[in-house]
Amino acid sequence: MSRAATDAAAAREAFAAWVEEAGEGGRVFGQVLVRAPEPGLFSLRHVEEAGASGLKLHEDPREAREISKTTEGGEYRPLKSSPNLRRGWELRVSGAGDLLVAMNYLYPAGVVHWHLHREGRLEVTSYRENAARQSGIYKRVQRLSDGGVQDTARACCEDAVCLKKTLWDVDEDTPLGMDRGDGEVPCPEPCSVFVSLARRVRLFEREKKRDLDAIGLSPSEKEDLAALVEAAATGHVEFAREAEFEKPLNERRMRYRRLTLAPKLRPGA
Ligand code: SF4
Repeated sequence: MSRAATDAAAAREAFAAWVEEAGEGGRVFGQVLVRAPEPGLFSLRHVEEAGASGLKLHEDPREAREISKTTEGGEYRPLKSSPNLRRGWELRVSGAGDLLVAMNYLYPAGVVHWHLHREGRLEVTSYRENAARQSGIYKRVQRLSDGGVQDTARACCEDAVCLKKTLWDVDEDTPLGMDRGDGEVPCPEPCSVFVSLARRVRLFEREKKRDLDAIGLSPSEKEDLAALVEAAATGHVEFAREAEFEKPLNERRMRYRRLTLAPKLRPGA
């Protein structure tokens, strides 16, 4: 058996045991409440529906794939650890193997990472190591400043937008200065959504070096402000999709602006 297969088997058993040991209350993993009503039987549902009745019952662990795919509004979820898991379902599965299948759809690789992290064996990759491996249009993330990495992490990885616990740092000497989260699902390496936002932030950094107007605003900052005014004036703010960082009204892009643009507009506030 390969090392990965051995780790997956051990993670499967450890996770099932962890849930069974918890008793009636179960365990929370991301936004999923997992309970074992009897040994070897597992019930999964959205954590905010712990006592709900009338949920749609599923018994095939592979149905977790559809559950995790879209938000309640029907929007595709590019990042399964975003706190936008839909409600209204219950999944009942038997055996640690089916439990792992379901959890892997809900939080891909989450259980194996959880297990390796508990054992102190999870390999963590820093931002700089990850960036060094990027190529093509993502190669430019190698030039993102340390401050840019920090702001991108605060905008992209805090619990308000991602429930994973961020374990990686900028590099081995530069820790991330953010709230890393309290959840059970570890994040050992910047994900593709993060790298995509980092690429956009690098574009913003370049713009700031050459295109500032008389009051110190860059073209994209003005574009974002205009889009916000327009949306507020119509009384209808339609946010961009989760990973559409090229659009002004993207939540993570706005979180980045809160860190970098808001202080410029209200100095001393
Ligand atoms: S890099 Fe950030 S956004 Fe991506 S999974 Fe990790 S914590 Fe979440």
